[in-house]
Amino acid sequence: MQTGRCICGGIIISFEGRPMVNVLCHCGVCRKLSGGPYSTNTCIPEQEFKLEKGIPKEYQFTGGSGNSVTIYFCDICSTLMYSKCANVTNGGFIIVVKTGVLSDQNALEENQPVLEIFTRNRVSWVQPLAGATQAEGSGSSQI
Ligand SMILES: [Zn+2]
Ligand SMILES: [Zn+2]
Repeated sequence: MQTGRCICGGIIISFEGRPMVNVLCHCGVCRKLSGGPYSTNTCIPEQEFKLEKGIPKEYQFTGGSGNSVTIYFCDICSTLMYSKCANVTNGGFIIVVKTGVLSDQNALEENQPVLEIFTRNRVSWVQPLAGATQAEGSGSSQI
């Protein structure tokens, strides 16, 4: 099991098993949400995900793919915890945990992205991640 928490500890999440995929995303939305040039995301099936503590604040919008995306964040310390989007392959939902909220010091090592998406937006001073599949757009066919 992997767990994650916000800065203030008001929200704690967990999930079982291995992630479906770890994705590095250069899209404009991730840029605003993370404050950096890209985001790191751990995608898991909805049924593996558990909200252990707290009730995050929600905000829903239409993502770059045209699908609805809901983001969940702590309304006290503002840490963005995860988002939820439609799983186009089975009609369910995918929970996209922001990898950096995972509590284990090794979480970012263990969840190295294997897929890099929206590479057309990548800034010139960030190099492609060696070994990761590169997708110019949403890369939805690779997930
Ligand atoms: Zn918090
Ligand atoms: Zn993104």
